[in-house]
Amino acid sequence: MIIAEKVSDVKAAVRQWKQAGESVGLVPTMGYLHEGHASLIRRAREENDRVVVSDFVNPTQFAPNEDLEAYPRDFEADCRLCEQLGADLVFHPEPKEMYPEGFHTGVSVDVLSKELCGKSRPIHFGGVCTVVTKLFHIAEADRAYFGQKDAQQLAIVQRMVRDLNYNIEIIGCPIIREEDGLAKSSRNTYLNPEERKAALVLHRSLELGREKMEAGERDAKVLLDAISSEIEKEPLARIDYVQIVDWNELQPVEQLAGKVLCAMAVYIGKVRLIDNFIFEA
Ligand code: AMP
Repeated sequence: MIIAEKVSDVKAAVRQWKQAGESVGLVPTMGYLHEGHASLIRRAREENDRVVVSDFVNPTQFAPNEDLEAYPRDFEADCRLCEQLGADLVFHPEPKEMYPEGFHTGVSVDVLSKELCGKSRPIHFGGVCTVVTKLFHIAEADRAYFGQKDAQQLAIVQRMVRDLNYNIEIIGCPIIREEDGLAKSSRNTYLNPEERKAALVLHRSLELGREKMEAGERDAKVLLDAISSEIEKEPLARIDYVQIVDWNELQPVEQLAGKVLCAMAVYIGKVRLIDNFIFEA
């Protein structure tokens, strides 16, 4: 497995693969890899001749008040997992390699970036779109793998690829959870044991919402009230948002129809966690 820190080293490896007619699957990550990331790498391994994993805590998607410095990192463990999973290359650049002096270009997707996480993280998705654009080009990826854990990110990247005619297929992969239902996340390591228990309220309240939808409830306000009251029962939880939006434009709906995304961000103590599900009404 190649470990590359320089863009030019990734490009040199990819050029050889492409000359041999091989396909490349890319899994963009911020490292501190867990089973959620592993599921994407496995899928990429099945569907491509070569697999590139990027392991880069991208500074441009963090606002100054967010957890860029504190974000957990363990590059050696990440490399061991990537090797076990059969990745061909791990790209682990320094920020200045991705954003050299004089870097002034950005890609953003309007409308879909405005609701959900976009409200409290207004610069986040511009940073994501810009870095994944760079990664797509550097790795000359034929396919890129994203988790539904970050459903808004998946929708935005899919739209960017469609709108700007990128030659890449975006593959969405299901959310991987702990046995008790908590969605796996690198940020779960911030939780103390008491908070870890409290964090179950995200999945529990979403399941409550899903049950009501399955029982025929279509009024978004009724559903959101039920979900929010369940969260409010947990003293360590503070809601950032709970929303039901249409899966096409990610705009709030009043009555559920077609494919909808029910998503939330909830602070457990100081830790901001996200979770969601998609429902076909
Ligand atoms: P991150 O390192 O948090 O930026 O995540 C990198 C990729 O892994 C993103 O596409 C995430 O959606 C995906 N991912 C993170 N956690 C999970 C999970 N629990 N299940 C599925 N995919 C995940």
